[in-house]
Amino acid sequence: SQKRIGLLFGGCSGEHEVSMVSAKAIAAALQMGENGDRYQVLPFYIRKDGYWYEPETAAQVLESGIPLSTEIPPVGSLWEFPQQVNEIDIWFPILHGPNGEDGSIQGLLQLMQVPYVGSGIVGSAVGMDKITMKMVFAQAGLAQVNYKAVTRAQVWSNPCVFPKLCDEIEEALGYPCFVKPANLGSSVGIAKVRSRQELENALDNAASYDRRIIIEAGVTAREVECAVLGNDYPKASVVGEITFESDFYDYETKYTAGKADLFIPANLPSEVSDRIREMAIQAFQAVDASGLSRVDFFYVESTGEVLINEINTLPGFTATSMYPQLWANTGTPFPELVHQLIEFTLERHSVN
Ligand code: ADP
Ligand code: MG
Ligand code: MG
Repeated sequence: SQKRIGLLFGGCSGEHEVSMVSAKAIAAALQMGENGDRYQVLPFYIRKDGYWYEPETAAQVLESGIPLSTEIPPVGSLWEFPQQVNEIDIWFPILHGPNGEDGSIQGLLQLMQVPYVGSGIVGSAVGMDKITMKMVFAQAGLAQVNYKAVTRAQVWSNPCVFPKLCDEIEEALGYPCFVKPANLGSSVGIAKVRSRQELENALDNAASYDRRIIIEAGVTAREVECAVLGNDYPKASVVGEITFESDFYDYETKYTAGKADLFIPANLPSEVSDRIREMAIQAFQAVDASGLSRVDFFYVESTGEVLINEINTLPGFTATSMYPQLWANTGTPFPELVHQLIEFTLERHSVN
């Protein structure tokens, strides 16, 4: 019988707009090909301020591609969900960043007792928090850059502590280093710093985004990514590479057409891409991800080293995004990929 898929998109995060584009592509793919009539898609839109909208309004938002204004007074309260929420067989959250990719929405769906696509609470939360993620990767023996974790309290509250903190960072990591809020994505709040003054400013800025801040030694490397799909026996895709002219892969480079190029498969010695695929699966299992993840790496060509950068448990999913493109190049086209994600969701939730 037909399965009703609740496509959750928008959300309270800086990646609201990306989510809308991903959701549109997924909605179309679910209705395509031989699997098309197995699914009925019911979209649900989460406005930037957290209010949920029922399928009719959500479909209009999806079609228009324009976020609903938070100026419009919402119908009901934050905890009143549209009645159609009760009709869903499988949730497909396609939300990026805080509130969507960090275990929050996964906790809510878990409480609803309805299967949902992607990682559970732990995998999502660990994958989102760059400090926890790096501790887990270290434990799994995955090579990565040196880093230091600090708190907003250390940066803001005591004027005697701050200079010592900066001394320690300089000594441990040197310049250039990267200052990042621990729980964001899309390069929001990230700065590459080359001096004491830039370090101080970047820490102050990152503290405005998050209680937890990570500072990493900067590497000069090629940026390569690998897609993982599955549950207990995950598979890794071919490896892709991103190239760009800008100083690093910042927000503007990520979302301005023409500023970055994807190469799939990446031009790498096969020994290196095999190692990357293996590390991608280890990372996926280390954080307890399920369904899908994109694992990002630095390849230091001069030494042959592969360093893991991060895992993204709900990667960008537009028609031109790296994750679906990697699978298309590995032999799984977009509609088939979406279908497999639904199947893996049913598999994961049936054994619990
Ligand atoms: P996000 O989760 O927001 O994508 P990342 O940790 O992936 O954050 O950082 C965004 C980009 O910043 C990377 O794709 C890379 O271009 C650059 N970058 C981040 N950390 C480092 C590092 N330690 N050395 C060199 N470049 C880095
Ligand atoms: Mg990320
Ligand atoms: Mg990244």
